[in-house]
Amino acid sequence: MKVIRARVLGYCMGVRRAMDMADAALLVSESPVYAMGPLIHNPQAMKTLTDRGLVVLDEETLPPDLSGASVIIRAHGITPRLEAALTNSGATLIDATCPRVKASQMKVRELCGTGYRVFLAGEKRHGEIIGIQGYAPDCIVAGDPVLAAAAAEKLFAEEPEARTALLGQTTISPDEYAAIAQAIGRVFPNLHVINTICRATGDRQDSLRELAARVDAVIVVGGRESANTRRLLAIARDKPAWLVESPSDIPGEITAYNTVGLCAGASTPDGLIDAVEQALCE
Ligand code: SF4
Repeated sequence: MKVIRARVLGYCMGVRRAMDMADAALLVSESPVYAMGPLIHNPQAMKTLTDRGLVVLDEETLPPDLSGASVIIRAHGITPRLEAALTNSGATLIDATCPRVKASQMKVRELCGTGYRVFLAGEKRHGEIIGIQGYAPDCIVAGDPVLAAAAAEKLFAEEPEARTALLGQTTISPDEYAAIAQAIGRVFPNLHVINTICRATGDRQDSLRELAARVDAVIVVGGRESANTRRLLAIARDKPAWLVESPSDIPGEITAYNTVGLCAGASTPDGLIDAVEQALCE
């Protein structure tokens, strides 16, 4: 069997940076190291970190006293209110917010501060959106073009002269973002659209499309909880395709194919990709 890797696969810049910061903190810190929420949507990578002593915190059950402890802020970022709560509890913050997400947080604050009514395109419950929204509690989250149109019409009825702007979740698809911009733009033609889309997701999807055209079957390596990994599986579905979290998930049927493509989501560790590749070759 021949195994061909996708041109772009695995960790994106923001996740690699957060994992490197966690690794460094666990190596040197003599006090407890916490993460504000799971650092990565990959069970094996999380287990490696928790085995080394990382403790995952939940906003609802924050310990009141974190004096002397280090708390890593994950790549999705957090709200300024939560950041203040952690600082007030005595924790030292290690800010692994992805620089691209940080730029969106700063932009939304600047726009709201200068009188814009801001629409935010993305998933209401996603950590990145919750974090950005914390910088502008009045901004309007719209998950799809229908919701965006309804929100724009409601705002127009209340403030027909509103100056409006649109930002998106960094991982939203360009087509979805354009459709949301169009829906709001019909109501507010002067909508200021800011491009906040990160190419990491698109690059992995494009390289999978190129790869899928050249292989008989596809293996997607990554966590089932990871939205970007599940999207890769959906793209690969033109061919026989499987999502595997570890080498033991590789299906027996794979031996029926001569050429297998290998791709991985942005939260899949290099070591896991290598282990799956090796198991396929064996
Ligand atoms: S997908 Fe892009 S924005 Fe999100 S963490 Fe990775 S590099 Fe940062």
